[in-house]
Amino acid sequence: MILPAREEELDLTKAHDISMNGHGCDQFDDAYAYDGDDLGAVYTEEKTGFKVWAPAASEVSLNLYEQGDGDDLIETIPMKMGDKGVWSCEKQGDLNGVYYTYSVKNGDRTNETVDLYARATGVNGNRGMIVDLRATDPEGFENDTRPAFVNPTDAVIYELHIRDLSADPSSGIRSTGKFLGLTETGTTNADGLATGIDHIRDLGVTHVQILPCFDYATVDETRPGTPQYNWGYDPKNYNVPEGSYSTDPYHGEVRINEMKRMVQALHRNGIRVNMDVVYNHTYNIQDSYFQKTVPDYYYRKVGGSYSNASACGNETASDHAMMRKYIVDSVVYWATEYHIDGFRFDLMAVHDIGTMNAVRAALDRIDPSIMVYGEGWTGGDCAIPSSQQALKANMAQIDRVGAFSDDIRDAVKGSVFEAQDKGFISGKDGMEERIRFGIVAATPHPQVPTGDGVRSWAAQPGQSINYVSCHDNLTFWDKLAISNADDSEETRIRMNRLGSAIILTSQGVPFLQAGEEMLRSKPSAAAEGGFDENSYISPDSTNSIKWSEKAKVMDTYEYYRGLIAFRRAHGALRMAETADIQRNLTFMSGLDANVVGYTIANSANGGTAEKITVIFNGNADVVDVPLPAGTWEICVNDRTAGTVSVGTAETTVSVAGISAMVLVQGDDTI
Ligand code: CA
Repeated sequence: MILPAREEELDLTKAHDISMNGHGCDQFDDAYAYDGDDLGAVYTEEKTGFKVWAPAASEVSLNLYEQGDGDDLIETIPMKMGDKGVWSCEKQGDLNGVYYTYSVKNGDRTNETVDLYARATGVNGNRGMIVDLRATDPEGFENDTRPAFVNPTDAVIYELHIRDLSADPSSGIRSTGKFLGLTETGTTNADGLATGIDHIRDLGVTHVQILPCFDYATVDETRPGTPQYNWGYDPKNYNVPEGSYSTDPYHGEVRINEMKRMVQALHRNGIRVNMDVVYNHTYNIQDSYFQKTVPDYYYRKVGGSYSNASACGNETASDHAMMRKYIVDSVVYWATEYHIDGFRFDLMAVHDIGTMNAVRAALDRIDPSIMVYGEGWTGGDCAIPSSQQALKANMAQIDRVGAFSDDIRDAVKGSVFEAQDKGFISGKDGMEERIRFGIVAATPHPQVPTGDGVRSWAAQPGQSINYVSCHDNLTFWDKLAISNADDSEETRIRMNRLGSAIILTSQGVPFLQAGEEMLRSKPSAAAEGGFDENSYISPDSTNSIKWSEKAKVMDTYEYYRGLIAFRRAHGALRMAETADIQRNLTFMSGLDANVVGYTIANSANGGTAEKITVIFNGNADVVDVPLPAGTWEICVNDRTAGTVSVGTAETTVSVAGISAMVLVQGDDTI
């Protein structure tokens, strides 16, 4: 590794022998980190300015093209290097709709690359496009506002893949597999039941979380008629929507307009939009625009090899100044230009704590209600020390950033790594402590002592994203089919309800995989049958939401809907401060094995109810549970969930086998 110790020691015209290695980049960053906000193509009607950070390059030029692919070069313009290794040029005239690349000479190699800051591209993201962003706004977008929302604990997140929503013919949605599928209201299945955005609105969730919808590599956008599928965790252009979700991937402005229309439609329906972002790795290294622009700067290396905490062959280097800036600039761009309301960071622990705090601070300047959360783990060994990683264990150092609770996930239904493993709802003994830990959102609580598998990691309840299923691993319903194959479907439905009740009543932030409320299954496309636990490239037949099933599962759907309505009606389930949970939430003692109960008192968090009691019975048989004094209204039991009373109880209540019960006291609204 040859690094310049001081800027004056570096002859930038012969800088091709600079290489960077892992986290030994501090001197390079000291000399070259650029903090300007003008990287990329800055468009006006009169002229466009181009700036690219490439301090190791000896030559950079701009190529202008008529289209996003093909042999249609207009001209090549040499760029000049200025401060901090930023190369620039300017072109007079209105360049809206002109495509462009940079040719960057590093060492002996000249690579043609897309601008890392490109905001539009042609088909398959192989060229950038200069774009007049104002012309991409749908009508009324300037008046688009984020639906009201304050604390992360007020969220109910619904994780959705664009294609899954509308790929099955039973969806009744015309724009199959497109952003615009989420703008179609009034769609129904053959039974006349709502599908698409109407279904999501009726369910009552506050946020949809869209699986990667920035431009990714593996779906060929030139073959829309060919069956193709990918979750999208293979980033290509970070600041451009995915072309296969648009009706025209060739004209860069179309996908921008259509994604904005999706956000606008969801906002009009009272639903916020979170993006799943994947800055921790790129599709590969050799084709990466990072690598073609500044070789090896954006990736971490250990002992000459690329570090692989992403389990995808590379990990990016957020601890390098310009990678950190890139991540921050990118989320700020999505939040401002597209009105995105939150960001879910894939393998967040590949990033360093400083970067996640910088993301939070930058988004706070736009709107503090924008959510930030992610996976507080990696897919392998990371090149930076664990003390610096945005790990679940380090969340106390990352204020107002959340992490997924694999604790509650596995406590409820069993490990995702062992298909046969059971949890609290499905017949495993000894899970009470872990369920209590989930109920208090992984925050410290005097009645949840640190012990085996239990160690609080959330400083505030809004940091714990509570879930039983997401795109990864088996669906909730398929997991039960495997772990509890000997149980009847009726029993497994009871387990599903109990699990959903735990997630939707616990403190913290509830999260659902789309279709969980309709017992979604991912049948394997393989000849041997079974279920698909890693469906990232599986066909629509596996991944799509089967709206034709909705009529058969309306009881379960209504149960989820009722739980969400109850949660949104009662602030006590959404306490924003750990101290409030400690003060107001008391676990019952002396209960039977596999039974967990608690009472929230003091009209907590501005709730209409003076007290709420929640009881979970993981046993197959009914249990009688003593109640605190007074008369209690039952809002949730084994069959129904909602905001109205379906009966009363005093002194003692019988809780059916494998079921939840939620009771309310002192609430004039019930
Ligand atoms: Ca793409």
